[in-house]
Order: sequence, then structure tokens, then C-alpha cells
Amino acid sequence: RELPGDTETGSRIRQVHGAAWSRVDPTPVAAPRLLAHSAEMASRLGLHEADVQSPEFARVFGGNGLMPGMQPFAANYGGHQFGHWAGQLGDGRAITLGEAINDAGERWELQLKGAGPTPYSRSADGRAVLRSSIREFLCSEAMHHLGVPTTRALSLVATGDDVVRDMFYDGNARPEPGAIVCRVAPSFLRFGNFELPASRGDVELLRRLVEFCIRRDFPHLSGEGEALYAAWFREVCTRTAVMVSHWMRVGFVHGVMNTDNMSILGLTIDYGPYGWVDNFDPDWTPNTTDRQNRRYRFGRQPQVAHWNLLQLANALVPLFGTTTPLEEALQAYVDAWIDADRDTIARKLGLAECRDEDVELAQSLYSLLALGEVDMTLFFRALIDVDLAAPSLVPFEETFYDAEKRDEVAQGLSDWLGRYAARVAQDDSPADARRERMRLANPRYVMRNYLAQQAIDRAEQGDPGGIVELLEVMRRPYDDQPGSERFAQRRPDWARTKAGCSM
Ligand code: AMP
Ligand code: MG
Ligand code: MG
Repeated sequence: RELPGDTETGSRIRQVHGAAWSRVDPTPVAAPRLLAHSAEMASRLGLHEADVQSPEFARVFGGNGLMPGMQPFAANYGGHQFGHWAGQLGDGRAITLGEAINDAGERWELQLKGAGPTPYSRSADGRAVLRSSIREFLCSEAMHHLGVPTTRALSLVATGDDVVRDMFYDGNARPEPGAIVCRVAPSFLRFGNFELPASRGDVELLRRLVEFCIRRDFPHLSGEGEALYAAWFREVCTRTAVMVSHWMRVGFVHGVMNTDNMSILGLTIDYGPYGWVDNFDPDWTPNTTDRQNRRYRFGRQPQVAHWNLLQLANALVPLFGTTTPLEEALQAYVDAWIDADRDTIARKLGLAECRDEDVELAQSLYSLLALGEVDMTLFFRALIDVDLAAPSLVPFEETFYDAEKRDEVAQGLSDWLGRYAARVAQDDSPADARRERMRLANPRYVMRNYLAQQAIDRAEQGDPGGIVELLEVMRRPYDDQPGSERFAQRRPDWARTKAGCSM
């Protein structure tokens, strides 16, 4: 290991200084059983179907055994949570088994989530419940197929043990089945890994971590010292902008954008109380603990990412003689966000380019969608096939949640469609090209909260079939899939108040 590790091993809860990780093994479970896996991720790692179905697989990815060469560890990091510095956090229930290098030379870190206590578990148990594990497993793969930068999921293993959550999920504390997801990424480094040594004045560890991260994960960057660090931080900023622009494009709300949940690679990480906007609502958050401030609401995600990058910049100050390069990189975030957002607008509306006035065109649409409580996913999909010679609201009938709200915006939407038709007419591209461009930017299938919940309910009754079915549909989110229409519908009324869940 190139980075300094903790001198103590095992899971005794402790503050860990001068070290980036602690050596700790998964705690065995009663009866590991594979519930689902990602075929794409498995083959990417060079695993065959027979490998995945073997008892050895469930044993290792359920935390009951190690393969030769695995030296599991938990990472040490801190973070700003809901705007406040929280000190040391660390992998409290995540344990990295090791790295695998596949035939293509790609390096993937394999990490179990819910594999038992670590030095960073604080007062919690290091375990994960089945429902949150299903949510992470399904959503990370769905995001990948949507083209959103994300950590991946290899497997979902039931542990055979019960986990008790003393927090309120559905009004009752109760024992629930436990599970373990194996998640996969080139690196799980977070902003918080850098913030923690900086907060302790440990500039030596901070520098080593930055050098390590650049060499391993940003090998295309050249130079050295401050210039290299500046190029690196700038790329972290631009990657983060691109990631968030994809979230906004598909209607994903992360829900807990604390700096310990921000990947240094610009990957979506830590699927907890995330959600998808059904009716387009910039003020919506799936996180029930954030309903007061709505800090992490849908429409605020671009600003929050900037604030998080500012915290990372502050942590990096000791590596720089002046703060100018850091400030320039933060400005690069703003510029990259504006560019990415304009690109999103052009793609979602099927325009060859985004002109200045198109930004206003998109914003007036967003206002109407919000006011009219219109389903975001269904609306953009319906827009693809609207008859621009005689635009009407008929194709949008299924996209409204409320008849009164629909009537309020009907005139506005009709006017908007007229403006849109006029704008499209000025574009050079043929109609087919426009429609194809829109199809590839506007998914037909997203992981609506209630769909995940239905798969969870079935799995809790002992039938993992719903997970497999949903994953199958989410593998091709931009295709119309005959027979799978029920996965592409408006959220039903009964699901209206259901939020995401965190633990
Ligand atoms: P999160 O809000 O999920 O990002 O978690 C924040 C911190 O709490 C991280 O350090 C997690 O590892 C830790 N944590 C969350 N749930 C558990 C758990 N069940 N057991 C131990 N640590 C946990
Ligand atoms: Mg986290
Ligand atoms: Mg979490």
C-alpha cells in the first residue's frame, strides 16, 4: 500500500490520525445468498456466469471469505454534512476487498457495503438493510445505463441475518433482512478524504493523498507541484459539473450531497435517500431529514456542488502559494456547468445548438412544468413526437398529475409549443435527426421511487424477481420496450408521499 495505514487492525472504534485507511475484515454473516448481479459489471471484471452463480461468489461477496490477495480495508475520511464540518467519518459500513485489473487493463476497486463494523462505525452497526441495498444496487446500474457517471454495482447478496434500524422508516422500528452490495469503481476517494488531513493540519498526508490520486486516477495529467495540483483540481471541478448536469437532465436528486458523498472522480456515489422527480419540481427533495431547509433539493444541486468544491479548495490551500489557481478552477466549474447545461438544453429539445435565447426557452418550459405539475420524463418523451405543424396538448394528456393544474398551464404550454415549433423550424437538422437526438437525451425509463419500492416489497416477501425485472428494463432506458409500458408510467397516487429512504 502506497498510502500510510492505521497501525491498529480490527474494528475498535477510534480516531485514526496520520493514516488514510485501516485494515479490517468483513464480519461473517449467517447465510449469504446471491439475489441479483449485474451481468455487464461481472463480464467487465472477467467473471463468467458460472463464477457468479458459484457458492464461492456468495461467500466472498457476502463477507464470509476472502480470495487470495485480498487485504480488506476501510478508508478514513471526514466531511461537511448539511453545511457543517463533521470531523472524522470514514467507511463505517463499507469495506474494500481489493482491486481487480481486468484483461483490458482497467483497475476496479471492489467494495462491500454492509459488511460489518469498522473503526469508523461510530455508534452504528456497519450493516445495511435489504431495502437500501436494493435501492443502491438498482439505481447505480440504472444510472450507468442512462449515461450518468456513477459507481457501479456487481452484486446484491442477502446475509440471512436481521438488522434492526431504530430510525423511523415507515413508522415502526422492526427487524429487517440484511444485505450486502458489492460496489465497484476505479476509486472511492471522496472530497472528504482530502478534507480530513487538512482539518488536522496534516499537510504531509494531504500531499501524499493528492499525489497518489493524481498518479493512479488522473494519469493523463502531467507536470508537477502546484501546476499539477491546479490542473487536477480543475478537472475535479469540471467532472463534477458534468455529473450534476446529467442528474438535472434525467431528474435525479441525490439527497445527501455532503462532501463525504462527493467522488473525486465526479461519479455519483452513495445512493441513500436519493429520488427521481416525477412531476417536475425544482424544490423537491427525497430526503425526509432535509424537508425543512431543502438544502439538497433538485434545483439546488448545481450550487451545492460548487459549495462542496469550495470546501475541497479550502482543504487544498496548504498545497498552494496563492489561492488564485483554486479560484480559477472554481470559476472553471461555473463555466463547465453553463456549457453542460446548454448542451443538455440542446439535446433535450433536439436542437443542433443552444443559442442564448434557447436558455430562456428552456427556462420558461421548466416554469410551466413546475406550475402544471407535469411529469418530467413523460413530457420530454412526448415532446419528441409532437406534430410541430399543428402542436396540441393531446399527446401530453398522460403527463399531468392534476387536472386543475393542467388547466392552469394549458394556454401557457400551447403558446410554448408554438415558440418551440418556430425555433425548430430555424434549425438545419432533419426531423428524424432531431427526434433521434431527443430520444437519446430523454429516457423513457427511470428508477422511479415507487418502482424500486415494489421490487423491495416483493423481495422482502422472498421473491427477488422484481429486482431482476426492473434491472432488465433499466438496461435500455432510451428504448421503447414493448411489454414494459408499466415501468414507464406516471407515479400512481398511492406513491405520492413516499420519499426515498436512507439507512
Ligand atoms: P452517509 O450519510 O450514508 O453518507 O453516512 C455518513 C457516515 O455514517 C459514513 O461515515 C458512513 O459510513 C456512516 N454510516 C452510515 N450508516 C452506517 C451504519 N449502519 N453503520 C456504520 N456506519 C454507518
Ligand atoms: Mg456516505
Ligand atoms: Mg450512505
